[in-house]
This record gives sequence, structure tokens and C-alpha cells, in this order.
Amino acid sequence: MKALLVGEYREGNLLDTTYELFGFADQLGAETALLLVGSDSRLPAWVGTLYLADAAQYGEYNPELHTQLVLEAVARESADCVVFLHSSYGWDLAPRVAAGLKAAQVSEIIGIREEGFEVGCCNGKMRRTVKPATPSCVLTIQAGAFPQLQPGGSPTIIRMETAGSSSLEFMGYEPAEAKELNLTRAEVIVTAGRGIGKKENVPLIAALAKALGGELGASRPVVDAGWVPHGHQVGTTGQSVSPKLYVACGVSGAIQHLAGMKKSEFILAINKDKEAPIGEVADLLVVADLLQFVPALTARLAK
Ligand SMILES: Cc1cc2nc3c(=O)[nH]c(=O)nc-3n(C[C@H](O)[C@H](O)[C@H](O)COP(=O)(O)OP(=O)(O)OC[C@H]3O[C@@H](n4cnc5c(N)ncnc54)[C@H](O)[C@@H]3O)c2cc1C
Repeated sequence: MKALLVGEYREGNLLDTTYELFGFADQLGAETALLLVGSDSRLPAWVGTLYLADAAQYGEYNPELHTQLVLEAVARESADCVVFLHSSYGWDLAPRVAAGLKAAQVSEIIGIREEGFEVGCCNGKMRRTVKPATPSCVLTIQAGAFPQLQPGGSPTIIRMETAGSSSLEFMGYEPAEAKELNLTRAEVIVTAGRGIGKKENVPLIAALAKALGGELGASRPVVDAGWVPHGHQVGTTGQSVSPKLYVACGVSGAIQHLAGMKKSEFILAINKDKEAPIGEVADLLVVADLLQFVPALTARLAK
């Protein structure tokens, strides 16, 4: 199988997540070529064919022109599949490319099985396996689901151009909103998951965070329910953190949450379910009712 991987730049820098595409292709056992719309100054340390289009000419993001460039690289490479990260870039481009190729698209892949690709469903509570039924396919992979593979070396560059035109012009980026809180610098984070049960229990978690000299984190359902502001969210659609101590209270360990915190130095999970997936990354899993355990721990720390 031959895979065309499509990496990403942000403000002139190659995103490290591009290396997750190599990790995915390695697990797939695919031969690879890479397409980047970027610049010569920041190229990946990797040996292989790199189709390089100039971001100064095509914009760091322009869905119409980038789709043309991907389709042209697929034709030149005779690729069987095109792989994007499941990012705002990838999830916008992938369906356009799939439509252009009349190919099946599988989104947000978290694993590879013999029968097909594993994707999350039911808000991450279940997984299903999907197999493309077309000769070629377009795939997006979940951030953090595959290891970053940095093989080293230098690519062989093939310059890419397209005669296609666009009705859009890339104007640049601006921050969506100032974050109320920068969790990325916190040494200790104590996170409230849905297992806290209700908004009124947030102070229990905040008190433990305070007793440990840390910050309050939250899983997405806690934020979506309006119990804690979005600035506290950890995960793929929140912040990526790597504190010395991460305490997950009533967090199941969905892949989108793990992607944002699994690099923490020490992970303590408190969960009443001893089979909760958070246990797979936790250094210590306390199987307990957090409503009893957390206040007791906070009181003990105060002594
Ligand atoms: C595109 C996309 C992006 C996403 N981005 C994020 C993200 O950035 N961050 C994020 O967190 N999620 C994200 N999610 C959601 C994610 O898939 C999960 O749904 C979410 O992480 C689950 O949150 P949770 O662990 O708090 O809740 P649940 O999965 O409901 O887990 C609750 C846990 O609490 C335990 N529990 C219940 N009561 C108690 C008790 N009294 N004592 C101890 N334990 C108890 C349960 O055993 C369970 O393990 C995203 C999903 C999608 C589709």
C-alpha cells in the first residue's frame, strides 16, 4: 500500500504532529510520500519523496488550492490512500479530496485492526471498526492516537505547482480568545471529570487543587455542562499539559482526554471503576468514590 501523508505548517513552522503521520504509516506498513504546503526552511527529518508547494504562493491554508495540490500529488504518486491529521486543516480538506477521488473517507482513526480502522463513537464511549470499500481511501487520524516517529535524514524534494484558482485568500491567523488560564505551565493539575456528578461538587476538586498548590482542570463534558469555564479544559479540544502531577478525578480516560495529559510525569487517577481506561496510563489508580476520597485527601493534606 502506498500512502500520501499530508503534513501541516503553522506560521512558517512544521507542526510536530506531522510526525504522527509517520507513526500511523509505520503501523499500517505503508510506503510513504509526503505533501507539505510550507517552506524549505523547516523540513521534516525524514527520508522519502516530499512534494513541496510554497506556502508563500498558495497560502498556509487555502482549501481549494490545497485540495488541487493533494489531488495532483496523489496522481503523481499513484497513492492508495491519503492521510491527514484530524485537525481543523485535515477535517476540512479530507472530504474535498475524497470527493475528488470518489474515495471512501474514514475519519478520526484511533487504531488499526486486521479487519479495518478503529474509530471512536458514542462520544468516545465505544469503538467501531470501518473498512473502506473503494480502491483508494482518505483517512484522518486522531491527535495523540499514534506515536510520533522521527526517523531522521533528509527528504527528496519535488516542487509542486497547481494551475488551479481559488475564490479564497488566506489572510493569516489570530488567536480565538485569550485563555483565562495557562494550564501548560502548571506543575500540578487536579481535573474534574463527569464523575463529580454535578456543578456543586466542583469546589471539592478545586479545594484539592489548592491544597496541592495546583490548578483546576476539567474534562470536556464538565466544560460542556457549564460547570467549569473552557479555559480549564484538558484534551484535544482543550489544552495539552505535562505537569509533574496530574490528578484525574472521575475521568474515564477517553482518547481525546488522554491526548492532552498523558505526558504528565505522574498520573494519579481516582475512579470508582477499576476497569476505567484511565488506569492504563495512570501511575496510581485509586478505586474509590471520589466524593468520599477527595475531601478526605484534602483534609489530610491540610494537617
Ligand atoms: C472531537 C472530540 C473532541 C473531544 N475533545 C475532548 C477534550 O479536549 N477533552 C476531553 O476531556 N474530552 C474530549 N472529548 C470527549 C471525550 O470523548 C469523552 O467523552 C470525555 O473525555 C469523557 O469525559 P469524562 O471522562 O469526564 O466522563 P465519562 O467518560 O462519563 O467518565 C466519568 C468517569 O467517572 C467515573 N465515576 C463516576 N462517578 C464516580 C465517583 N463518584 N467516584 C469516582 N469515579 C466516578 C466513572 O467510572 C467514569 O470512568 C472529545 C470528543 C470528541 C468527539
